[in-house]
Amino acid sequence: MLIGIDLGTTNSAVALWRDGQAQLVPNALGELLTPSAISIDGEGMVHVGTPALDRMSSDPANTAASFKRLMGTSRVTRLRGKDYKAEDLSALILRALRDDVQALTGEAPREAVITVPAYFNDRQRKATRRAGELAGLDVRRLINEPTAAALAFGLSDRQDHEPFLVFDLGGGTFDVSIVELFDGIVEVRASSGDNRLGGDDFNAALAQAVLGRLDPLGRLGQCPPEQREALLARAAERARRQLSHNAEADFALTLDDERLSARVTETDLEEACETLLARLRDPVIRSLRDSEVDLASLSEIVLVGGATRMPIVRRAITRMFGRFPNSTVHPDHAVALGAAMQAGLLARDSALDEIRLTDVCPYTLGIDVAERDGHGGLQQGLFSPIIERNTPVPVSRVKSYHTLSDQQKRFSLGVFQGESRRVADNIQLGSLDIPVPPRPAGEVGIEVRFSYDSSGLLEVDVTVAETGLTHNLVILDEEDRPSQQEIDKRREALARLKFHPREAAEHVALMARAERFYEEFIGEQRAMIGQWISYFSNALASQEPRRIAEARESLTAALDMLDEQPIL
Ligand code: ADP
Ligand code: MG
Repeated sequence: MLIGIDLGTTNSAVALWRDGQAQLVPNALGELLTPSAISIDGEGMVHVGTPALDRMSSDPANTAASFKRLMGTSRVTRLRGKDYKAEDLSALILRALRDDVQALTGEAPREAVITVPAYFNDRQRKATRRAGELAGLDVRRLINEPTAAALAFGLSDRQDHEPFLVFDLGGGTFDVSIVELFDGIVEVRASSGDNRLGGDDFNAALAQAVLGRLDPLGRLGQCPPEQREALLARAAERARRQLSHNAEADFALTLDDERLSARVTETDLEEACETLLARLRDPVIRSLRDSEVDLASLSEIVLVGGATRMPIVRRAITRMFGRFPNSTVHPDHAVALGAAMQAGLLARDSALDEIRLTDVCPYTLGIDVAERDGHGGLQQGLFSPIIERNTPVPVSRVKSYHTLSDQQKRFSLGVFQGESRRVADNIQLGSLDIPVPPRPAGEVGIEVRFSYDSSGLLEVDVTVAETGLTHNLVILDEEDRPSQQEIDKRREALARLKFHPREAAEHVALMARAERFYEEFIGEQRAMIGQWISYFSNALASQEPRRIAEARESLTAALDMLDEQPIL
């Protein structure tokens, strides 16, 4: 079985293609979105999703979220004394989603289509594919998130669509694509984006702006940085979401029995996020220019991603395009549904017989070169593009280069991604060092071939003309390319981590939520929450189904009531 997975910074979702349509799969708690959070408790059990998020305030040292931002780097997160890379933590999310599909269908899926931000670079894509492998999934295809959303939008009515723009603003990334659907061909004309722009940044900006008012005495400065970050992020998230429905909200948190709070307005938010809002323009302009579509001929602006729910973002969009955006696709579901459609396409499902998808490479790929200027000087570190951005994929391009010095013995090539003329401002993906026969300058030629596949993964081959020898890209950072043996070892280590049994999921989640509330409240309310928790644990220990059900209901009701209470 081939499934489609939206592996988001904030939320993940899984869908499958069944009976001629894409269908979302609920998790053990019945939710269609699983927060991309992992926590490991004192017993070494892994919590995934909502309960993990609840543990963010009660046990921040052993909880991780937003780790997709570290994808493709060697940065690790330490949980219960063990280090995890972003791809390891993502593998745990993928494993949970795989289990959800198995619980629904009775069959363990082996293959997946996983979505990535269009703007994810080669390292980030390779790390995502490895995450799949670490979860025991064969990743058949990586598909760009806005492309997946475009499939979900375009195929919902099976009509032709003039070029439309997909505007995907999530928790950590921003992606824009311009897509056209004509005669069954879904054609991505251009993609652009910002890898470091999303709801998390709006939270940070809001927190920064209110900090002075919230904490004039600098009390937060005394707690460990990770706890401080977690408290501020949670408070900001809550206030920002409230501001999607109300003109004012409370920015509030509890620190050692003391309640810090400040009133924030929509205007505060808008002012705090001015520069972030301005950064939404660039990718839009770039994708319009590259696709040669002008603003007036865009048929729709399709909104995807949770952060497009913010009224300040919607207003910015309306101003930018001079019209109201389209919200027919579900902003949280479109990407996973589109991934499942891609799965259906790969499985050659008959319901999708007539549909073809073409995507583009969203950034320019090339190598660094040196040039002699007219006065005999040497200019180094210049970028020579080989595959230009927004070229339809898969694509393979060759370019020839020659030696610059007499008796030059080697070619040192850096492989870069980006748009700057100077490679120092672009992202280095790898390097190659190739011996060549020593000859007078300009007499030795090499051919550099870049092949970019449908998943957005790059292969580089260099052939020395005189010897006919071909070399493959060597990635700079050895860690980036673990051997199959290492991957197998890590996969086994991850597989040994235990998840809570599915039957217990609701109880475990409820307990995590109750413990978070215990942390958040003080005084009488806290004491009461403590009593409810004991009552619920005793009921669980009794193993009497009726007693458990009763205690569960009353605890849930009590927590729901507290959740609705305005924090003063
Ligand atoms: P990702 O694709 O990165 O996982 P999502 O598309 O799930 O992200 O969007 C998550 C972001 O959407 C978070 O930053 C969250 O704060 C924001 N978000 C979700 N709902 C709302 C809302 N009602 N108001 C404001 N922001 C929201
Ligand atoms: Mg997303």
